[in-house]
Amino acid sequence: MESRTLGIMDAILRQLRDILSEINALEGASHVLTWDQFTYMPTSGASARGRQASALKRVIHEKSTSADLGKLLDAAANFLPQMDPDSDDASLIRVARRDFERASRVPDDFVERFSSHTSVSYMAWAEARAADDFSVVAPFLQRSIDLSREYSGFFPGAAHVADPLIEHSDPGMSVATIGPLFGELHRGLLPIVRDIAARSQPEDGFLYHHYPKKRQIDFGAMVARRFGYDFERGRQDMALHPFSITLGVDDVRITTRVKEDDLWEGLSSTLHEAGHGMYEQGIDVMLDGTPLASGASSGVHESQSRLWENLVARSLPFWECFFPLLQKQFPESLQGVSVDAFYRAINRVEPTFIRTDSDEVTYNLHVMLRFDLEVQLLEGKLSVHDLPEAWNERMHQDLGVCPESPNYGVLQDVHWYCDHVGGAFQGYTLGNLMSAQFFAAALRDHPEISAEMALGRFNLLHGWLTRKIYRHGRKFSDDKLVLRATGQPLTVTPFLDYLKNKYSALYGLAANA
Ligand code: ZN
Repeated sequence: MESRTLGIMDAILRQLRDILSEINALEGASHVLTWDQFTYMPTSGASARGRQASALKRVIHEKSTSADLGKLLDAAANFLPQMDPDSDDASLIRVARRDFERASRVPDDFVERFSSHTSVSYMAWAEARAADDFSVVAPFLQRSIDLSREYSGFFPGAAHVADPLIEHSDPGMSVATIGPLFGELHRGLLPIVRDIAARSQPEDGFLYHHYPKKRQIDFGAMVARRFGYDFERGRQDMALHPFSITLGVDDVRITTRVKEDDLWEGLSSTLHEAGHGMYEQGIDVMLDGTPLASGASSGVHESQSRLWENLVARSLPFWECFFPLLQKQFPESLQGVSVDAFYRAINRVEPTFIRTDSDEVTYNLHVMLRFDLEVQLLEGKLSVHDLPEAWNERMHQDLGVCPESPNYGVLQDVHWYCDHVGGAFQGYTLGNLMSAQFFAAALRDHPEISAEMALGRFNLLHGWLTRKIYRHGRKFSDDKLVLRATGQPLTVTPFLDYLKNKYSALYGLAANA
């Protein structure tokens, strides 16, 4: 580029970065409010917090859709053809422009209507849960579906009514790309689930003995630190529904919950959130303060939490190192339990009604059920009235269990009752598929990773993830990130291979299961 053109481009990029950095700072501030709300805020603070959060949200929305920003983005986009598409600057222009266009398409009055609807819908869901009665929330769910369809209509040209909703959390994904992947996964999972159901179950009663809270928290934090979660640039607090949240690249917080009569619940939740946290802590500092300083999508984010929670912390090499330490922490409950018995117990596979309680084999069947039903609801092929029965029938077909009441079925997850219908579930399963594909690629590059894990070291794995995934933030779309990191597009094969190998050994399944 000529020096005059370069000068103009630099000036535009500087102005653009200034505006985006201010928006990013306001978003960080709204995250402080959210973090406080779900950790330390007294319940009586709810109404003041509601006002503060929505005032901030309004300012962020105004700035994110301002005409000035639009003009700068258009001017910057003129330089894209001459730029390296993988550079930080080109990625910033591309991603910021996409965010701007998406935010601008949705009218302010819709945002307000939707937000006031979801707060009443959430309350109706809480009432329905208390009464274990779906009919209490059914009319609100119908309205959520109508509003979700209306939202989708702001993106004309979408091939499917669910696509704009999916695109919102998993850019580049659609019903057309997810449908075949999920179909193949579903066909691959059913025989494994059925084969395991016919086998005898390992003993896991010792997981439900008394495990004092403080000692559980200390152990979880010690493992998270060994994984590579940096407590100097983050912290851990208690929350009813654990989450991780980013206030800035150097302030990424995690939360957990601990039950004294369930050892795996707290530990797995801590390590899951540490995975989310390490992802955001690993983002290149050069991206800090820009819209690129965040995870690529809900699928990629979930791949990072599940990788540490399942591929690492549910593996035998990991426990060969950490089980003696866990035993020392809880001698009353774990004395006399072998590492093998512990490994079998935390990998017990058993169909359950509840998604969040399910094991890594059956989990994705819960997710795909929700995905398929929400697509049918949006298409108008399934009515709200028929939803509970469709849910129960599918549970019975896939998992052989039938929920006794709505609380164990259609009312169990809050997602449909506090947000759009569509777009919220696919990321969980995409994440599981990616976690296995990333882990297999890391092992190909560094076969010593398993031996390192057995010594309680994770530098190679953490370093690989940082180079291939963490540091890029939102620079690349899911398909590009997966291709760059693993050399292949996303497929179900690594995940199904992982399950078959692991559970054939655990349950003595036929090799061709
Ligand atoms: Zn997660």
